[in-house]
Amino acid sequence: MTDNLVIIAGGGVGGLATALTLHQIGVPCVVFEAVREMRPLGVGINLQPNAVRELYDLGVGADALDRVGAPAKEWALVGLNGAEIYSEPRGLLAGYKWPQYAVHRGQFHMLLHDKAVARLGPGVVRLGSRVTGYRENADGGVTALVEHADGSLSEMRGALLIGADGIHSAVRAQMHPDQPPIHWGGAVMWRGAAWAKPIRTGSSFVGLGTHRHRIVFYPISHADPRTGLALINWIAEVTMDNSDGWKERGWFRQVGVEDFIRHFENWVWDWFDAPALFRRTESVFENPMIDRDPVPTWRDGPVALLGDAAHAMYPTGSNGASQAIVDARVLGAAMIEHGVTPEALAAYDAKLCGPISQLILRNRGAGPFGLLNLVDERCGGQFDNIDDVIPREERAQFMAGYKAAAGFAIEALNAAPRTIPEGARVRGA
Ligand SMILES: Cc1cc2nc3c(=O)[nH]c(=O)nc-3n(C[C@H](O)[C@H](O)[C@H](O)COP(=O)(O)OP(=O)(O)OC[C@H]3O[C@@H](n4cnc5c(N)ncnc54)[C@H](O)[C@@H]3O)c2cc1C
Repeated sequence: MTDNLVIIAGGGVGGLATALTLHQIGVPCVVFEAVREMRPLGVGINLQPNAVRELYDLGVGADALDRVGAPAKEWALVGLNGAEIYSEPRGLLAGYKWPQYAVHRGQFHMLLHDKAVARLGPGVVRLGSRVTGYRENADGGVTALVEHADGSLSEMRGALLIGADGIHSAVRAQMHPDQPPIHWGGAVMWRGAAWAKPIRTGSSFVGLGTHRHRIVFYPISHADPRTGLALINWIAEVTMDNSDGWKERGWFRQVGVEDFIRHFENWVWDWFDAPALFRRTESVFENPMIDRDPVPTWRDGPVALLGDAAHAMYPTGSNGASQAIVDARVLGAAMIEHGVTPEALAAYDAKLCGPISQLILRNRGAGPFGLLNLVDERCGGQFDNIDDVIPREERAQFMAGYKAAAGFAIEALNAAPRTIPEGARVRGA
């Protein structure tokens, strides 16, 4: 092993984007992933244009993304009366130089895994290996403590450790032992995906209902040219009293449609039949909408947090996976400037921890779905003409404010130089 070795805890979207980035800039790494076998788990996620730009720069282009998802064309909010509150074009149609992709999380994850194995070699992503903690070394490096699926323990020394081990991060727990428990604001989500005819533009994200009782759905595949059907990702969500905390079993469990459909039994319009979509779904998962309180820093000497381990946030802004990818690239850029050193981690932390912590709190306050709050407050969700409830300009201003905070304001992104210049390598790599 070399002096430059970076150890990555977690082979999810963030860990694998980091491994691919390090390989691109000439830094050796090893990824310890707790699961014994990589499987295509999860349903839909969105890759915002700022993340798609980074994927393209990593050599993960439209051909690959079109196999695991489809470019998003529109984002729309609809009231309980079935009438539109707000809509805007997305991706290339909105003027971005890069598309937004709605993808199947599991298939996208497998795509990154296959690329990592092909480029870095089969021994780099080590499955069945859970990082349980770390120790700083006298020489300034770090030792990762690893527990293997067969029960054996091992240690690995490296220059840096990146904790990309998700919302239940062991690395974060050691870095911030006094962090509060996972935060649940009272919303419960049921999720699934089923084949159905896509509506509106054919690739529209639709948020329907109120801020406490809603459905979100969008296609995560191109429509099959023979049947016209696309895989539609859906999330049904209800907010309840959270004063007793989350009492159900586990954070993520498979349930039956009958366990929740009563909340949406009458959600039928001539253009959309929610119960029918739910009933056609093979596997439904229940999970509470959770996040973590921000921490003041993502760095402890030669160790840094990345992705959900750093900033688990509500999915309301569709930016958890996108931000994990951007984190990996900002980290790579910091290494190009400062080498494979704790200073690089400090620069990465200084750039992202503050603003992204603000974003966590903003998403907690409903994120872009805040418009539904306003409609609810002003007219109880019933309106004839939305302009009488929230003037067009106010709607546009609200969304512009959110997008600037989330890092996907159009002009700023289009004008920004590459995060990692083409061909850039870490000095001495
Ligand atoms: C199984 C699964 C399904 C998901 N499904 C969805 C979904 O349907 N919709 C959605 O919006 N988001 C989903 N997410 C979350 C989404 O993937 C993340 O919010 C986002 O991609 C950020 O990625 P991440 O790499 O930081 O975290 P994650 O994607 O959570 O990846 C973390 C990885 O670290 C591994 N790990 C955990 N602890 C350790 C440890 N101590 N040592 C080594 N490895 C460890 C985990 O097995 C996992 O592979 C899912 C996450 C997982 C793990």
